[in-house]
Amino acid sequence: MRTLFTNARFWSADQEIFHDLLIEDSIIVATGESAKEFTADTTIDLRDAFVIPAFIDGHAHPIFAGREAAGPQINGLNTVVEIQQAVKAFAEANPTKSWIIGGAYEAAIIEGGDFDATWLDEVVNDRPVVLHAVDHHTIWVNSKALELSGITRETKDPEGGTIARYDNGSPKGTLREPSAIALVLENAPANTIESDIAAIKYACTEYLKVGVTAAIDSWCEKDMARAYIAAAQSGDLTIVCNLSFLATPTTWIADIDEFNELRQQSLELDNSKLLQANSIKFLLDGALSAGTAHLTQPYLDDPTSFGIAIWNDTELLNAIVAYDALGYQLHLHAIGDAAVKQALNAIEAMQKINPEWDRRPVIVHAQLICDEDLPRFGQLGVIANIQPLWCYLDPMNKELIAPRIGDQRNNQQYRLRSLINAGAMIAYGSDWPITSQIPMLAIDVPVTRTNPGLGITQPWNIEEAITKEESLRFYTNNVAYQMFRENERGTLDAGKTADFLILREDKIESVYVNGYISKVSE
Ligand SMILES: [Zn+2]
Repeated sequence: MRTLFTNARFWSADQEIFHDLLIEDSIIVATGESAKEFTADTTIDLRDAFVIPAFIDGHAHPIFAGREAAGPQINGLNTVVEIQQAVKAFAEANPTKSWIIGGAYEAAIIEGGDFDATWLDEVVNDRPVVLHAVDHHTIWVNSKALELSGITRETKDPEGGTIARYDNGSPKGTLREPSAIALVLENAPANTIESDIAAIKYACTEYLKVGVTAAIDSWCEKDMARAYIAAAQSGDLTIVCNLSFLATPTTWIADIDEFNELRQQSLELDNSKLLQANSIKFLLDGALSAGTAHLTQPYLDDPTSFGIAIWNDTELLNAIVAYDALGYQLHLHAIGDAAVKQALNAIEAMQKINPEWDRRPVIVHAQLICDEDLPRFGQLGVIANIQPLWCYLDPMNKELIAPRIGDQRNNQQYRLRSLINAGAMIAYGSDWPITSQIPMLAIDVPVTRTNPGLGITQPWNIEEAITKEESLRFYTNNVAYQMFRENERGTLDAGKTADFLILREDKIESVYVNGYISKVSE
């Protein structure tokens, strides 16, 4: 079955705009004038629509998004009272839920970002409540959750994490970083494979609606990988996925065999392209908003603190040498300039130890980068995965980050233009559910360094702005490359999957997946 799409403006990475595209079943067969040389079974007149390859999300947490969607919806609420009301309503509607877990609240609505357990107690005091902050490095819990977790003034901060406290040492109700968050969540009922398949299904549906047909889950625990494999077998996984297994300083050695086993299972699926478990995620530091990003210069609000380094250099090198040798792609979360430097140093040292291969290491976020480290991305072949929707002066940067690091450093975040000039490849990731998965909300932000949709029109460090065409490429072609799927997707070239978006007046009119319409705008 051949379909000719005609009379459109097709945009595809480095090609000139062309007007015709022919697909056969799920694959693009010809583009431009040559597309018209074939006989087509159907011809679709696109009436001058703008057509681009489907978006690909190079850093996201689809299962977390699905899990969060199953709790109270507090995204975008602007006051504690609104959050209290949403949590109360959810608790009343779900009387049998033993734990109430949801997200994500904007921590910037409270100066300093420390939320109090008693505020949640006012609405729910019979069951534990855990709310994730938008940075997903912070939780806010009620007193019941503290009590069930045994967290008191005597509890020490776990390594790499902090418990916000009153002057007398008793916990306030805000905990930061995975090790502290785990003190609470390890007591919550475990997610089941069924609930995680439901989360995957939810995420796929939400992604397809907004034109994303492939993504990388970049915080994949073993049970989550099992859920992905099951969802691929059952047909519930309807987008293409890469998985990045989470390695931690205490688990990376013990997990090697099981990660290999899960990678093998993903390769043996009937549709071997659907799921690839070929990447390994390392969290090197925290977040600027929480004062936990690892910096080369101290924080202003606590001059003794340079943030948190989750890995020591030796352990990190040992771990990445081991996983690189096993053929895993590295996916390193580094936000502060010291974390970015640590990541680059580790990659450089690893490349001297292990034999050469097409490894495409990724540093994700790279919010602050020392000048001398900019050219190292290109030199070492490191992809910078950046969150386009973060490239404007949002309330978190203004209220929480600037006071901690000062305006000068704050304004040096997201140096896209400098990275490009220094020879780096950039790819995009939404970091959903930390921020929206909708590419059309994000694509113009690095171009204008503003977010008019949220009323912020003053450009933020406009010298770092990029072009719209670059921005589109970073959300399509370059993520396909990051995912080792550039032969399969990311551009509209012959031989690639027919995943594309039909845009009219800057809105997605329809989404084609594998040559079929998956969504038509309402
Ligand atoms: Zn993330």
